[in-house]
Amino acid sequence: MSHNVLAFLETNRDRLLEKLNDFLAIPSISTDSTHKQDIINAAYFVKKYLDEIGFDIVELQETGGHPLVYAEYNQAGPEAPTVLFYGHYDVQPVDPLELWKSDPFQPEVRGDRLYARGASDDKGQVFMHLAVFEAFMKTEGKLPLNVKVCIEGEEEIGSENLYDLLQQKKELFQADFAVISDSGMIAQNQPTILYGLKGFTGIEVTVHGPDHDLHSGLYGGAIRNPIMALSHILASMKNENEVVTVGGFYSTVEVLSEEERELMNSIEGEDYLQSTGVNQVVSEKGYTEKEHTMARPTLEVNGIYGGYQGEGTKTIIPSSATAKITCRLVPNQDPEHIQNLLEEHIIKHTPSGVTVEVKKEKLSSKAYKVEPNHPLIIKAAESYTKAFGVETVFVRMGGSIPVVEWIDEIFAMPIVLLGFGTPEDRLHSPNESFPLDSFDKGMETLVHYWKEVSKE
Ligand SMILES: [Zn+2]
Repeated sequence: MSHNVLAFLETNRDRLLEKLNDFLAIPSISTDSTHKQDIINAAYFVKKYLDEIGFDIVELQETGGHPLVYAEYNQAGPEAPTVLFYGHYDVQPVDPLELWKSDPFQPEVRGDRLYARGASDDKGQVFMHLAVFEAFMKTEGKLPLNVKVCIEGEEEIGSENLYDLLQQKKELFQADFAVISDSGMIAQNQPTILYGLKGFTGIEVTVHGPDHDLHSGLYGGAIRNPIMALSHILASMKNENEVVTVGGFYSTVEVLSEEERELMNSIEGEDYLQSTGVNQVVSEKGYTEKEHTMARPTLEVNGIYGGYQGEGTKTIIPSSATAKITCRLVPNQDPEHIQNLLEEHIIKHTPSGVTVEVKKEKLSSKAYKVEPNHPLIIKAAESYTKAFGVETVFVRMGGSIPVVEWIDEIFAMPIVLLGFGTPEDRLHSPNESFPLDSFDKGMETLVHYWKEVSKE
C-alpha cells in the first residue's frame, strides 16, 4: 500500500530532513581541486545510504575523474521493469560568498524554503529518491521495481567522463527506461512534464583582412574592413522575420502537429516584456514565441569582437573580426551537418578582399524528444497531479541537458524527466533554495510513480 509508504515519509520527515542537511553540508564542489576530499565524502554519503536501504550492489565506479556511485536493486523479479535513475552529487561553486544570507554549506530553513548549495541542484532531488526507496523498503520490505542508480560527481563540470563510462559499461547501465530528476517545473506547485529538449551546436567565425591594423585615412577606400565584412556575413544569416536563411537549415525539421502547437500555446507563459525589459517580442514568422522557444530551431550571435574597443576614437581598419555563433536544434537536426551548412553559407557570403576562418565547436548535442502520450509519460503526469493536486502541463525546453542525449543515443530507452525544482530556486547562484513543500509533494509523486510503472 502506498498509504504506508507515505505515512512513513511523514512520520520520518524530521529525521530525513536532518539527513538531507548532512548531505548538503558536504561542500562537494567538483570544479575546485581543494574540495577533492569533499567530493569523495559526498560519494560515500550516497553509497552508505544505498547500502543502508538494502541495495544488492553498491559501488563507486572509477571514472578517471570524480567517482560515480552505482547501485543495483534486483529483487523485484524478472517480470518487474528496471529503471535507471540518474542524478549528481556534485555542486557549483558558491562565490560570491558575501551575497549568501546563510552559509551555503550550513543548510537553513527560512520561511518555507531550505537554503543551501545543492538544495535543488541536485542533492535535494537525489535525496528525495533515496528517501522514497528507504520508505518502500522499511514498509513493504521491497521496491516495486528493479532499480539501477547512477549518481555522478562531474555534472557541474560537463560530465567529462560519463559518456565514455556509459558507453564502456553499456550492459551494466542498461534498463527499460531512465528517470532523471535534475530539472524544474515552470512554477512552484505546477507539475510539469518536460518532454523535449533542444540540441546544440556552434561555430566561431573570424574574418581576416590586412596583416596589421591600418590607418583609415591612408587605406580607407582601398582595403575591405573585416568588421564590416563580418557584419555583412552575420546579417545574411537571418532575415527580418526571424527566419534563418542558411540554406538547408530547416530541411530536416519535423512539422509541428496542430495538437502540439495547441499544447504549447495553452501554457501560461513568461511575460517577456516584464522579465527582460524589451519593448516587443519577436519570433519566427508563422510561429508564436512559445512555439519558437520550445520547438523551432534558433541561431544566435553570442559575441562579437574586433578593432578598437577603448575610450575615444582610434581611426583604424582593423586586421580581423570574430563572432561566436550558436544554434539550438530540434529533433532530426544533426549538429555536425548544421555546422557544415553554416560554414558553406559563410564562405558563400564572404565579400572579396578578406579571408574567413571557421572553427567548429566540439561540444555539440542532438535534441531529445519523447512522445507526450507515451505510457511512461502519462503515468508520470498522473502521479504529479495526484501528489500536487494540480493538472500537469507538458512543455519542451529551449535548453539542452547532454546526459539526456547520451542516454538516448547509447541505450535508446525512454527518458522521463521528473523535475521538482522551481524558477525561484536560484540554481548556480547565491542563496540557492528549495521549497520544503516540494520535498513532500515530490516524494509523494515518486511513490505514486514507482507504484504505477510497476503495475502489470
Ligand atoms: Zn544539476
